[in-house]
Formats: sequence, structure tokens, C-alpha cells
Amino acid sequence: MSVLLQGKPAAAALDMDTIRRVNELKARGILPTLAVLRVGERQDDLSYERSILRRAETLGVAVKKHALPPTVGEEAILSLIRDLNEDPSVHGILIMRPLPASIDEAAVCEAIAPEKDVDGVTRASMAAVYAGRGEGFAPCTAEACMAILDYYGIVQSGKRAVVVGRSLVIGRPVAALLTARDATVTLCHSRTAELARVIRGSELVIAALGRAEYLQKECFTPGQTVLDVGIHFNEEKQKLVGDVAFEEAASIVDAITPVPGGVGSVTTSVLCRHVVLAAERG
Ligand code: NAP
Repeated sequence: MSVLLQGKPAAAALDMDTIRRVNELKARGILPTLAVLRVGERQDDLSYERSILRRAETLGVAVKKHALPPTVGEEAILSLIRDLNEDPSVHGILIMRPLPASIDEAAVCEAIAPEKDVDGVTRASMAAVYAGRGEGFAPCTAEACMAILDYYGIVQSGKRAVVVGRSLVIGRPVAALLTARDATVTLCHSRTAELARVIRGSELVIAALGRAEYLQKECFTPGQTVLDVGIHFNEEKQKLVGDVAFEEAASIVDAITPVPGGVGSVTTSVLCRHVVLAAERG
């Protein structure tokens, strides 16, 4: 059986440093503050918002919630973002996505001031991540993957890594972050030929394809480390599962993140850390 890469201790290590930074900021009269914008009442958004509030409270980070009706117009959202950009008491802005189809999500994301873009959604943040410049913030889930690798001392330099999924939220930024750490990265997607063979040939596997238990035993080989970013509710099993068929993979590979309790449990710690770093940068 493989080593279980639990997210909780990785999150706790990040949190310890975040609390120290929060205390230093508070001693200077600065309360690190995140503004969360939510449109409507999607269950996923509400549950993410609750976990942000819980984590932020533990760490001493303030959260200003802005719950907007599902009928809200794009101009009203843009105007709120402009106000938050100007508000010196707000250090980070997070928009729950996806936004309703009537709203131009790209335009809304782009309206966030890059220095307050704690979830890496603006072009400026993306450019910094893809250029490997280390400025700006990467999307929180992508960075949560890196936090787990770092916490468990998994070397990335010189390793063959495969990222399955090329979304701007996870796949592409993870690939960029791994490249910046000198891994040799293959980025796979729905048109990748011989996906199982490509994955089997890699030492480090990041699964972010959004398909429940899709990566099965033919993808895995001893010696691999697997990070499973996927989250799905399996009706039949009445439990959360990832993009990897966990039992099959865990019986083969060296180390693997569980779902739940893996990457997902580090995301809000990364988010709060970004808010604190943004507050430090002033
Ligand atoms: P997404 O936007 O739907 O992107 C999925 C990507 O996977 C696409 O690039 C797609 O390829 C690729 N893909 C789909 N089917 C594939 C297949 N059969 N073989 C190879 N590649 C395939 O999803 P996402 O937003 O990146 O999310 C990925 C997963 O992470 C989801 O399960 C989501 O629930 C989960 N998630 C977890 C967290 C967390 O905190 N743990 C946070 C956010 C999301 P194409 O580009 O060719 O379409």
C-alpha cells in the first residue's frame, strides 16, 4: 500500500507560518482582509464559502462577504470590484465561479487589481505564473498541489511529471509551477493519444481532468507519486471520489493523495496565505 499524502498536515504547516505573519501585521495595525463575491446560492459556492470562513477565522484573516442576487448585472459587479480595488482595508478579492452565463466572466476577473488577485485569475497573474517569475499569485488549487509536494519533500527537479487537464484554474498553472521547479512536464488533455502510456511513463502524476475515477490501474506503475485534484460525489458509493480510481492506484504507486482529505483540504490555507502576503506587500 502506498504512502497517503494527507492534506491536513501540509495545511497545518502553511497555517503556522500564516498565523505568525498575521500577528506581525496586526502589530502594525493591519488586519488582512479578503472580499468574497458570490452571485446566487449555488451549493458548491456556499460550501466553499463556509470553508473559507472557517479557515480564515482560525487564522485571524477577516472576510467581507458580498452576496449578490442571481439577477445582478455585469456593471454592478464591475462597480463593486472597482470599489474593492480602491478600498485600502481589502487586500484580496475572490470571485466564486462560474458566474451566471449572462455575465462576461473574463471581463469580471480582469477587473480585479492584480495586487489583490489572490486566486490568480487576471492576465497579469497568469503571465507571472507562466513566465515563472514568482510574482503575483497562482490559482489556489494549483498552489495547493505544490504545497503538498513541498511538505512531503517530494523532489520535482529533473522528474518526469504529467499533468492531466489543461484548464486555466488547475492544469496549466500546475504545469507552469512544476516547470519553474525544473520538472520535465507533459500536459495532457482530452485529445491526448495513449493517455495511460504517457501517465505510466511519468514519476509525478497530477490528475485534474474532472472525470470520476477515470484514471485506472493501467495508468500506474510502482515508484510514482499521484496527486488527485478531482472531486466528485459518487451516488452509488455515497461518497466523494477523485479523478483516480483510488484503491487500484494506491495498491501500485508509492504515494497518493486521498479524496477527500488531500489537495482540497489545502486550498483555503493557500488562499488565506495569499491574502496575508498581499497585505504584507501593502
Ligand atoms: P475542467 O475545466 O473541466 O478541465 C478539465 C480538463 O481535463 C480539460 O483540459 C480537459 O481537456 C481534460 N480532460 C477531460 N477529459 C479528459 C480525458 N478523458 N482525458 C484527458 N484529459 C481530459 O476542470 P477543472 O476546473 O480543471 O477541474 C478539474 C477537477 O478538479 C474537477 O474534478 C474539479 O471538481 C476539481 N477541482 C478541485 C479543487 C480542489 O480544491 N481540490 C478545486 C477546483 C476543482 P480539454 O481541454 O481537451 O477539454
